[in-house]
Amino acid sequence: MAQHEDGELIDHHCHGLVQRDLARPEFESMLTEADAPGPPGTTLFDSQIGFALRRWCAPLLDLSPHTDPDSYLERRAALGYEEVHRRLLTATGITTFCVDTGFQPEPLTSAEQLAAYAATNANAHPSMTADPGTSAGTGAGVGTGAGVGTGAGVGTAACGLEVTRLERIAELAAVDVLTGQIGVSHLADTVRARLDTRAPTTVAVKSVAAYRAGLELPAVRPTEREVAAATRTWINEIRAGAPIRLHDPVLHAFLIWCGVDAGLPVQIHVGYGDNDLDLTRGNPLLLTGLLRALAPTGVSILLLHCYPYHREAAYLAQVFPNVHLDLGLAIHNTGRGSAALLAQALELAPFAKLLFSTDTYALAELFLLGATLFRRGLARFLDDGVADDAWTSTDAARVTRMISADNARRVYSLPLASSSLQVPASAAHDLAVHSGTSGDDPARGPATRGQSTHGDAPSNDATRGEATRSQVTWAGW
Ligand SMILES: [Zn+2]
Repeated sequence: MAQHEDGELIDHHCHGLVQRDLARPEFESMLTEADAPGPPGTTLFDSQIGFALRRWCAPLLDLSPHTDPDSYLERRAALGYEEVHRRLLTATGITTFCVDTGFQPEPLTSAEQLAAYAATNANAHPSMTADPGTSAGTGAGVGTGAGVGTGAGVGTAACGLEVTRLERIAELAAVDVLTGQIGVSHLADTVRARLDTRAPTTVAVKSVAAYRAGLELPAVRPTEREVAAATRTWINEIRAGAPIRLHDPVLHAFLIWCGVDAGLPVQIHVGYGDNDLDLTRGNPLLLTGLLRALAPTGVSILLLHCYPYHREAAYLAQVFPNVHLDLGLAIHNTGRGSAALLAQALELAPFAKLLFSTDTYALAELFLLGATLFRRGLARFLDDGVADDAWTSTDAARVTRMISADNARRVYSLPLASSSLQVPASAAHDLAVHSGTSGDDPARGPATRGQSTHGDAPSNDATRGEATRSQVTWAGW
């Protein structure tokens, strides 16, 4: 049996959590990528993720594994969302959260708040030290419904870091053009300047081109003239009544190159997502030309989620030295099937090229499921290899550390301090990024998806017209 650790996880791509209690219809709507409930008489709980939630999350709420959905949600409401966040996040073993703050249809937890929920102390909830009597026995230390934590009773710190959404930077600059604060010819330079401003406090940029124009982006870096022409066309479309929603391949490619020029790793949404996405345009092979052009820069490219194109992404990760992938979102949605998914990605992807992420959005349960199912799937893959004498248990333990945390630490130049499960609280505080200072105004009320209430720097908000701001629509994460 391999000597896997139930150790540190770095979640290199996730989002914040909803900060309120949820009734069942709303909870179900946030459980999957569906934007509508199933046919009458059916429930989204009858799915891989629904069954996984009942199995792995229920014990953290003092319930039996496999508790029915109504009982689970009743208990969740009784505990209140803050206690649920705390229990589920401390149980994940995630020590670092890289948070995409660019999609916030309502105020979500900041990177720093996530880290605070995840920090454990000597008085961790009793479920954290529960007898692992229900262990599935993988040797990965994840067999108990309550025992995926790392060192309950020891006291662990966590930190939160920010990932900047590229399209949002451009769309906010477009608002400045529309309100006359900058000329249309200055949009590109404004985007560059704002990325430079953010570079010291953000660990990566992210592109949602897959949701907008698809991934068939120009293989050659767009010229200044091409960027200027595409910008004028886009602004004219908005003035003619179109929403402020960037969707031009030239501008998406321009933004990616801006991230590269700023020296920031570039996360790119690939494959699976909500129904705002045309999945055929999310195949990462469509990026091949651009990836070939980006390779000489040496800047890391992170292909996010990837399902069902995880084998294609694994190929790209093998042949391009700077390309990496993750299976976030797909891991928790495929539930018990995620072990096969991990094994398929690792058929070809070098072990140094796969990163752990959850792509959690809104529900703390997704952090718990992402972590638990990842650990179990990876353990199964590595244990099988040890049993087959394909590698040693020492190799397996090392690969676990790589995929769980060390690959992310290398890509994002994260300090070694975060590798310790006993980071001094002061050091974690130094690492934490106050995402609220560069993100959304928490004072604004909740909004539904697609109805943005976003602003940028508060100093600019006051001068922006409400009519213009209401045109801003955000989609996809
Ligand atoms: Zn995401």
